[in-house]
Amino acid sequence: MVFQKIKKTMLVVFATLGFLSPISQAYQDYSIGRIRAISNPYSTSIFIEVAKNTGYVARELIDPPRIMLNLYPAKLSPPFREIIINDEFVKRIRLARDSMNVVKAVVDLKTAEYNFNIFSQPVLSRVVIHISPPKKDIVAQLLTKEENSKDKFTYTELSSSELLPFSNKTIPEKKNGIYRIVIDPGHGGKDPGAIGPSGVKEKDVTLAIARRLAKLLRENLDVQVFLTRDTDKFISLDRRTEIANLLGGDLFVSIHANAAWDSKVKGIETFYNSQYVYGEGAEEVATRENAAFSSEVKVKNIIWDLIQNQYRSESRQLAEIVQNKLVATCSTLNRGVKSARFYVLRGINMPAILVEAGFISNPWEEQKLKTPTFQDKIALGIYKGLASYIKSFNRKVGG
Ligand SMILES: [Zn+2]
Repeated sequence: MVFQKIKKTMLVVFATLGFLSPISQAYQDYSIGRIRAISNPYSTSIFIEVAKNTGYVARELIDPPRIMLNLYPAKLSPPFREIIINDEFVKRIRLARDSMNVVKAVVDLKTAEYNFNIFSQPVLSRVVIHISPPKKDIVAQLLTKEENSKDKFTYTELSSSELLPFSNKTIPEKKNGIYRIVIDPGHGGKDPGAIGPSGVKEKDVTLAIARRLAKLLRENLDVQVFLTRDTDKFISLDRRTEIANLLGGDLFVSIHANAAWDSKVKGIETFYNSQYVYGEGAEEVATRENAAFSSEVKVKNIIWDLIQNQYRSESRQLAEIVQNKLVATCSTLNRGVKSARFYVLRGINMPAILVEAGFISNPWEEQKLKTPTFQDKIALGIYKGLASYIKSFNRKVGG
């Protein structure tokens, strides 16, 4: 197995986030900031606040099992710090000043059976260490299926117990930057979504747009694209989240069509998830889109909200870029970027947005939304936004 081979040879990851000259180092503050851990039964995430330019080298050590990171350039004051975590996977994390501008961090693990994933979030100035149970067989199985039928296969046939709320992004080897995009066509099956005055169903419009968007992305960008559904079937909101996270997506786009009591209301708006509602009508949109949510899993709310909150600034930035490109491409009314609490977005472990591609309740927009020409325009607008975001992101991380 790839995983075992990695363990034996000691995985070495190197990431550096910017060019550093000796002069700039002397005048900058590379202090390690707050260290936080989020524990749940499935995983542990450790967040280390670092300077914008701090990179890391990581390796696994056995007997006892632990993960070691050298953070560079970095400073630690006082010179030693220890945080007891004591959850399912992690005993504690220790940090010590190692040498000039190097800080050593050691994560002491409780088990030798684990997967881990380390990545930088330069925009948030932090390094994230994510530890989860080994799920190599399922991931390998998914990847094989993906190779065999890239366009048709969706991941919904796996039972829920096989899925985890987090992904393992170390399999397969990733390029530096964004390359996995998960598209989520809203509603489906027994849930038609909003229905227009002449009977056009939101679930059909969202799937048509999603397929067009997937095609554009696959043909024009060096990315992998996944759909949470590619047929007319019902998938719960939590399930969509699980699929996206298991696939280790880098961007998540949920596609919907809007509805309002007033049939004259029209235009396009794009949302990101937040506990703080912002924008006219945002609360109503969230209430309608959350209707498919099953109430028995409400206990997960707090931890799931924390997951998407980590990406709030990226998600907002993504929403703004996509909204601007959409409005320009479709020459339609710009209703702006808004925020509210969306169940389908709150647990997504990557930047995530929800696009409302026009009002199916408006007879004029309903007719447009069902035409291939307008569906192509919406897909092109979202595509342009994603392409622009990916380009700027890859420039930032030097990928
Ligand atoms: Zn919807």
